[in-house]
Formats: sequence, C-alpha cells, structure tokens
Amino acid sequence: MKVADIRQKFLHFFESKGHTIVPSSSLVPGNDPTLLFTNSGMVQFKDVFTGKETRPYSRATTSQRCLRAGGKHNDLENVGYTARHHTFFEMLGNFSFGDYFKQDAIRYGWELLTTVYGLPAEKLWVTVYQEDDEAYDIWLKEIGVPAERIIRIGDNKGARYASDNFWQMADTGPCGPCSEIFYDHGPDVWGGPPGSPEEDGDRYIEVWNLVFMQFERDQQGNMTPLPRPCVDTGMGLERIAAVLQHVHSNYEIDLFQNLIKAAARETGTSDLTNNSLKVIADHIRACSFMIVDGVIPGNVGRGYVLRRIIRRALRHGHQLGKTTPFFHQLVTDLVEQMGEAYPELAKSAEHVASVIRQEEVRFQETLVNGMRILNDELAALGKDGVLDGQTAFRLYDTFGFPFDLTADVCRERGFGVDQAGYDQAMAHQKAQAKASGKFKMAANLQYEGAQTRFEGYEHLQTSATIQALYVDG
Ligand code: ATP
Ligand code: MG
Ligand code: MG
Ligand code: MG
Repeated sequence: MKVADIRQKFLHFFESKGHTIVPSSSLVPGNDPTLLFTNSGMVQFKDVFTGKETRPYSRATTSQRCLRAGGKHNDLENVGYTARHHTFFEMLGNFSFGDYFKQDAIRYGWELLTTVYGLPAEKLWVTVYQEDDEAYDIWLKEIGVPAERIIRIGDNKGARYASDNFWQMADTGPCGPCSEIFYDHGPDVWGGPPGSPEEDGDRYIEVWNLVFMQFERDQQGNMTPLPRPCVDTGMGLERIAAVLQHVHSNYEIDLFQNLIKAAARETGTSDLTNNSLKVIADHIRACSFMIVDGVIPGNVGRGYVLRRIIRRALRHGHQLGKTTPFFHQLVTDLVEQMGEAYPELAKSAEHVASVIRQEEVRFQETLVNGMRILNDELAALGKDGVLDGQTAFRLYDTFGFPFDLTADVCRERGFGVDQAGYDQAMAHQKAQAKASGKFKMAANLQYEGAQTRFEGYEHLQTSATIQALYVDG
C-alpha cells in the first residue's frame, strides 16, 4: 500500500463514520502566537476544543503537516539516529468535539488497523494511563486485547522518548489520559515494549496516540470533568506506512526511498543506506513546506529554524563530497512525491527552489572553510576526544561556522564538544564588545558593536534564546 493510499484510506474510513474531511492547516499556526510551528493535528482545532469557536461539524478527520524542530517537541536531533523520527511529518487524526468518547475512539482505531489496514492483532500492543480503568476495560473486554499486551503507564519522565500517557493543552485548560497503540516490528529489531527499559529502541513503535480530553484543570491544579469530553488522535503517516510496507524504518517507505534516490543522484552517492541521505531527504521536506507556508531563512524565530535545517542538510551534502549547490534540485523530486496531496507545494515549487538555492550559495564558502578547519581539529584529537570550547567558538566567531553544526559533526564522529567552554568564550566576547562600545560612546564615536558582531546576534538564537522562543502547546 503506497503512502498516498494509506492517507486516503484513513480519511475515507473516518468519513464513513460521519467525520468531515478537513484540509491540513499551515505549518505556521494561525490561531496561536505562542507556538512556532504546528506540531500535531489538534493545533488547528484548539479553539474548538475549548469551546471558543464552533464548527458546523462535531467529527473531523485530517492529514496534518507537522514540524517538530524546536521547543517541547524537538526531533531534529533524532533524525538520522532513530528509524521513526522526522522533523516534518504527516499526522493522520480523527477528532470528536463533544461527540463520541473513549469507546468509539478505541473501536474505530482498532477497526481501521485490523480490518481496513489488515494488521494482525497479535502484533499490536496498547498502553493506557495508569489510572484509566475505563480505557483498560474497553481494550480488554470489548476489543479482546490480552492483558499481557495492555500496559499501564504513569508520568514516566525517565527515558529519552519515554511514554507519558497524560496529555494537557497547557498548564491550565483541557487535559486527560491517553491510550497509545504500538506495533511490534519483531525480534530482528532492538527494543522493548512500552514502559520497559528498552522502550527507546525501534522494535515496538508507537504508531497512534488517542487522547481523551476529559478534564479541565484550573490555576490551583484542580481537575473537573468536562461536560462534553473530546477526542484528539494522531497517527504518524510515515510510521504506519513502514508497518504496512513491511519495512522496519520510516526511511524505507516508498516516498522516502524515492527522495533518498534523488539525494543520492544529486550528491553522486552510490550507497543508498548512507545516513546523510536520510537526513537530506528528511530536511528537504521540512524546508520546502516551511517555505510554502511563508517562512524565509533569517536570524530569528521561524526563519532561524529554517536556516538551521537548510545548513544542516548542506553539511550532510558536504559529508558526501558535495561542495556546490544541490539541495534545491530536490524540490522537483519532492513535488513528484507529494505535489498531488499538497497542490500548494506544486504551485510554489519554483519559489521554494530559488529560496533554498540562495541560501546554499550564501553558506557554501563558510561551510567549506569551516569543515576544513573542523576536520583538521578533529584529526588532531585522540579517539573519543572532546573538542574544546575555544576552538568551537573560533570556528563560529571568525569563520561563521555555527555551533550546532560543530556539535552535530562531533556527535556523529563520536567526539564530545565542550559547550560550557564555548558559552564562556561567547560571554567573554560579549562583555568585551560591550565595554569597548561604552568606551566609544563615551568618546562620542558612533557605536559599532551591533554591526561588527552580526554573527554574535545570530548565535544568540542558537542556545539560550532559541529555547525561550519556543513555547509549545
Ligand atoms: P515518540 O514517543 O515516538 O517520539 P510521541 O509520543 O512524541 O512519539 P505524539 O506526540 O504522541 O508522538 O504524536 C502522535 C503520533 O505522531 C505518534 O504516535 C507518531 O506516530 C507520530 N510522530 C510523533 N513524532 C514524530 C516524528 N518526529 N516523526 C514522525 N512521526 C512522528
Ligand atoms: Mg516524541
Ligand atoms: Mg511517545
Ligand atoms: Mg505519543
């Protein structure tokens, strides 16, 4: 089953259950200035859930484009390391606005997976929130999932990707328990069932999250039952595609294989399993859709996230020996893969390619110089060494080579990097610039600090400020 069929089957299944098919909203949320990017299907319905907005339907289904490259949901660092994370992905969802609740949400989910998609029931595991006996009983008694494969999960804050089966929109407002459906990719893949110490592996993959908005939390933390509870679900299209195409990684599905082949063509790479190709294939989707939705590369906020992702892709191209612009060429291939589902992408393809190309040209020289210096420095380090903060800072300050790329290269090659030393060097630099600025002001000269330290401003966005900029829902 091709990605396009899987998406259609999902939407039509829920349409047959009385849901209205609603188009994906933009990656740039229209209704929430605190959120940089749309990171789940429910974002466009936030005000419907809280009752601030009403729609002519009480059941909806979508395939929502999502980006998780910052803040609470930041999967940028996972790309190229896990089989299941992307920066940009599509989330399939069904929503009930005060209409059906747990029982139907679970029944629909199960019916779709086992009947429409034909998955063997014994490969599916489910989790419920530890206190949610209601959901537990539906899975056990009505659906017939054996107790060994129903796992109660609490507020598990330990593991890196730990399941946490309680959802909240914000500190106050709608919240409630979740129930998640996992697929067992079998013993060839490392990993353990949800809740086990090995759950971070890629064997038991979380495919679908069913959120039951059941309570309203007030300022004091008191939870009162909502008069009309709601349902919000999200299933990663690429993850379910991997399951249905009998492959163990999202990067092996048809859509990604085609993008990976295109990336290999543009970079002259013969080994299609090379990790850099996966990263490039992931990043061309993220960058193109961000540009389609009106983001342009810049030094703050959304524009800076875009710039970082483009540069990261170029660095991986460089790793494959590519030192001239190539990334923008992949836009055509992306349109072939996704243009039908997203006509807005097809329509603005030329604009997208030209924005990316400009950024490539701009960064090329910095990249080539920076990588040469970094490679020399790393070669001089012993095995498992740590790159000192001063060197990382010099790369950035003198050569404009961003710290996050330095850190990325170090991680990939098994080196550490002294971030504290880097931050210290940066602070020292800023203090000096400020002091000399004051001196000049005192001497009645024009203050030049901001102009000469342009790169310093850019850096500000990479560490402390960028975290503060993201306030996720
Ligand atoms: P994980 O634990 O694997 O990181 P999650 O719990 O963060 O996933 P949710 O926030 O529950 O994910 O999102 C709902 C669904 O969206 C997930 O069950 C998964 O299928 C999909 N999904 C989440 N993050 C990604 C991602 N970075 N790339 C692809 N699919 C994703
Ligand atoms: Mg996650
Ligand atoms: Mg999870
Ligand atoms: Mg989840």
